Amino acid sequence: MVLGKRAKGIVAILAALAVAAALIGCVHTGGADQATSGKLFKAGTYSASGNGMGGEVKVSVTFSSDKIVSVKVDKHNETPGVGDIALEKLPALIVEGQTLGVDAVAGATMTSDAILAAVEACVKKAGGDVAALKARKAAAAGKSADVTETVDVVVIGAGGAGLSAAVTAHQNGASVLVLEKMPKAGGNTIISGAAYNSADAERQKRAPASAGPEAVVMGLINAKPASDLHKEMQATLKREYEAYKASGASYLFDSPTMHALQTFEGGDRKADLVLVKNYTSRTLDGVKWLESLDMKFTDTCFTVLGALWQRSHKPVKPLGTGYIEALMGYVNAHKIPVLLETKAERILMKDGRAVGVEAVGASGNKVTVMARKGVVIATGGFSRNIEMRQRYNTQWKTLDASILSTNHPGATGDGIAMAQAAGAELVGMEYIQLLPMGDPVTGSLTGNIEQGVENRIFVNKQGSRFVAEDARRDTMTQALYQQTDAWLWVILDKHSYPTGSTKNNFNETIDDLVAAGRAYKADTLEDLAKQIKVPAANLVKAVAEFNKAVERKGGDPVGRTLFADKIDTPPFYAGARIPTVHHTMGGVKINTDTQVIGSSGKAIPGLYAAGEVTGGLHGTNRLGGNALADIIVHGRIAGANAAKAK
Ligand code: ADP
Repeated sequence: MVLGKRAKGIVAILAALAVAAALIGCVHTGGADQATSGKLFKAGTYSASGNGMGGEVKVSVTFSSDKIVSVKVDKHNETPGVGDIALEKLPALIVEGQTLGVDAVAGATMTSDAILAAVEACVKKAGGDVAALKARKAAAAGKSADVTETVDVVVIGAGGAGLSAAVTAHQNGASVLVLEKMPKAGGNTIISGAAYNSADAERQKRAPASAGPEAVVMGLINAKPASDLHKEMQATLKREYEAYKASGASYLFDSPTMHALQTFEGGDRKADLVLVKNYTSRTLDGVKWLESLDMKFTDTCFTVLGALWQRSHKPVKPLGTGYIEALMGYVNAHKIPVLLETKAERILMKDGRAVGVEAVGASGNKVTVMARKGVVIATGGFSRNIEMRQRYNTQWKTLDASILSTNHPGATGDGIAMAQAAGAELVGMEYIQLLPMGDPVTGSLTGNIEQGVENRIFVNKQGSRFVAEDARRDTMTQALYQQTDAWLWVILDKHSYPTGSTKNNFNETIDDLVAAGRAYKADTLEDLAKQIKVPAANLVKAVAEFNKAVERKGGDPVGRTLFADKIDTPPFYAGARIPTVHHTMGGVKINTDTQVIGSSGKAIPGLYAAGEVTGGLHGTNRLGGNALADIIVHGRIAGANAAKAK
C-alpha cells in the first residue's frame, strides 16, 4: 500500500493508539519491578489476547529480568487438530529460542499469528525490546541425513483416504509407511463437517422420516436411462421401492441403489456409474469398519447441506476429529511410521510399474521410500491451488484469489501432478464445487450455524428467500451469486439450539458465536432483522410462508421439499455466509479396484489412488456427505489391493 505523508501521519497516530490500547488490554498480574538499565524485562506475568480462527486466544507470559520464562495459552477456541498444532509448538519455540522471530506453523497461520501478537503485547508491557526479539531467529536445525526405506506399501497423504489405506494395508499383513507434507495428520478430513452418507436401515428406522417424497424416488425410476447398467439399476430401485411400500413401513425409504442413482443424477450423469454402484454398496461396511476402530456415530441420520436425502451419519466427536483419532489410534498402536513434514515429489517408476516415492524431508533432506507392492496416492484435492483452479475452471466466473476456500493450505493438487507424470489419465477436472456456506472473513466452514437441512432457511440482504435450501450445492451457490454481495443469512430458532451452550457442527457454542459477533440472537424476528439490517417485513413474511409449507409438508414458495420444524420458537438466530471453494470433483482416473488408469486405458501396475485426488465418482456436483464415505470406502480398497499386489 502506498500512503501519502498526511495519511502516514494518521497511520502513525493510530498505530500509537493501537499500541496503547493493546497495553491497556494487557493485564499484569505479577509483582513487577521497575525496569532497571541492563535488565531485559520487568519481571512478572502478563497476559494479552490475539485474534485466532475461532476468536480470542488469550496468552500469559512470565518473564524474569533477563528471560522469557514461560508462555501459556489460557483460553482459545481453535479448531481441534488444526490450530492446536500451533498452540503446542509456538510457545515452546518462543521460550526455547528466546525469540519472537518464529515462523507461523503451516496450516495454522491464524492461530500462530494470534499467539505471536499476544506474546508481543506482553513483551511490550514487560518493557522488552520487540524489534530485537523479532530479529533473533530461532537456531536453524541442521539438515538431516538422506533416508532410504523399503516397505510393502507406501501411502502419500495422511488424511482420511491415506490413513484408511494405511490401516487396511496393515490389516492385510503389509508393512506400511505414510508420507505427510504438513506438520500433522488430518488434511481436509479433520476440518470437514464430517457427515458420512450411507443407506443404513438400522439408523434410519430410529428417526421419523422427515425426507423422502415419493416424487423423488419415482423421478429416479422413470428417468430416461443413460446406459444398460442405469436401466438395470432403475429396475432394482423399482422392486425395492414396491417391496418397501408393500411392507407398510413408516420409516424413510433408502437403499444403496437409491443412494447411487441420487449420486449419479446429482452430478448430471457425468460420474462413472460402475464406480458409483460399487461405492454405495460398500458405504455401510465402511461405517462398521470405523466402529470397529472405536469411532462413534450418533444413533440416527440427518441431511447435511446438499445431501438430498436423510442418510448422513454424524460422528460424535467434533468436525472430522473422530475419523482421524480412530485411524491414528490404529496407526500408533501398530507403530506404522508417518513421516510428517515430508513432501512427496515424484512417483518412482520402473518398467512401467510404480516402485516407490521420492520426497523431501523437513530439513530439505532427500527421503526415498521403495514399495515392494504398491504406492497409494491420497493427497486430496486442489481447492487451495489458485493456478490449477483458474486453469481448469469452466463453470464459475472466476476462481481467483478473491474467492476463499474451506480447505487446509496443503490442498494444492500435488498428487494429481505426480500421477500425471507417472502416466495417469485425469477426469472431470473442470468440476469444482463451491459451497454457499463460507465464513465471510476466512471462507472456512467454521461459524456455520445450520445443524442440518430441515430446520433452517436462507435469506438475502433484502430478507427474502431465494433458493430451495435443500437443493444441490451448485444450484444453491449459483443462486447465491445472483444476490446482493453474494451474501446470505442462515435463519433458524431454538429447535436448532435448545440452549446457549448447544454446539454447531464445528464445536462452537451458539453463545460464543453470538458473543464473538459471528451470529446474531433475538427474541423476535423483527429485532433479528434490525440487528442484521434486513427489512423486517420481508423476513417476517419469509418465515411465515416457510412455516405454512412446513405445516402442509409442501407448497413451499421456493420449491423446497425437506422439512421438520417450523421456525417459530425464540430465540431466533442469524449467521452470515458467502460462496467458498470446497471440493474438486475431478482428478486421477481409477477403476473399482482403485488402480490408477493410464492414458492407454490400462491400469498402471503398482499405482493406486483414493479420495479427493481421484475423479469420476461425483460428476459435476458432489452430494454433501459423499466425500467422507468416498475416502473411507476407496481408501480401504486401495490399502487392501496394494497389500495383495504381486
Ligand atoms: P482425502 O479427503 O482425500 O483423504 P485430505 O485433504 O483429508 O484428503 O488429505 C490429504 C493429505 O495429503 C493432507 O494431509 C495433505 O497435507 C497431504 N498431502 C498433499 N500433498 C502431499 C505431498 N506432496 N506429500 C505428502 N503429503 C501430501
